[in-house]
Amino acid sequence: MRVLAFLDGTLANPEDPHIRVDDLSVQRGDGIFETVLVVGGEPRELRPHLDRLARSASMLDLPEPDDEAWQRTVRLVLDQWPSETECALKLVYTRGVDGTPDPTPTAFVLASPIGEKIIRARAEGVSVVTLDRGIDPGLAERAPWLLLGAKSLSYAVNMAAGREAARRGAEDVIFLATDGSVLEGPTSNVIVARGRTLYTPPATIGILPGTTQAAVFRGAERAGWTTKIEPLSVEDLHDNDGLFLASSVRKLTRVHTLDGEQLPDAGAVHAELAKAYEDVYA
Ligand SMILES: *Cc1c(COP(=O)(O)O)cnc(C)c1O
Repeated sequence: MRVLAFLDGTLANPEDPHIRVDDLSVQRGDGIFETVLVVGGEPRELRPHLDRLARSASMLDLPEPDDEAWQRTVRLVLDQWPSETECALKLVYTRGVDGTPDPTPTAFVLASPIGEKIIRARAEGVSVVTLDRGIDPGLAERAPWLLLGAKSLSYAVNMAAGREAARRGAEDVIFLATDGSVLEGPTSNVIVARGRTLYTPPATIGILPGTTQAAVFRGAERAGWTTKIEPLSVEDLHDNDGLFLASSVRKLTRVHTLDGEQLPDAGAVHAELAKAYEDVYA
């Protein structure tokens, strides 16, 4: 089951064609998106997601998103979705149709069920490989046109990294900068636990500021943890009491194997942090 609505408030059949072949998202991957987790009919972190959509829009010089229209459209879609079933809401905002002087962005919200692979990974954890991302930590600030840290629709590289992981017998990826510092996953943020402290790298190194990472940190602080946003090295990926990938649909997923090496069992730490994260919404 899926539910689709456009930003003008019209529901549409997701099985029907709707996007023009000359839409710049199709032609150039020119647009942005957000993926929002919905549990019990409630979208999690909707405010931070809409704030980040506005930030990505600004980085791509897209028209400022109509915040109220997005909120209305999210509600419209969720009114059609059974609240007892989790779903992922994809908010897509493209530059619109090529060749028009001031193109109107194509904008829609699509609700889909959570994939089985993701549900399994939440429970069992994942095997991860580190891959070179070819950027240095200063690049984002030096070269804003590279759109590092925007959630853009140009994700062919991120998807290719996932296929490379599969070739290496793994399920996910942690990108490294040229100096060996830890960036993020292709669709997730990296969190390291050491003692009672959580670490994640700063968004200024060219990664996306994660809404889930922020929620996990909020929950952990309430549960008595300390949280730190600071650069991480490859060594930190091995030397810790728990390594995790965080994103809206995967929540806090444990990494059990890194570059073919099994990591010490962090099941208890994962259970505690997963609970602290859920308690944010209790
Ligand atoms: C979406 C995404 C994340 C995670 O963001 P959430 O708000 O937690 O879902 C992290 N990195 C990249 C590259 C992403 O696309």
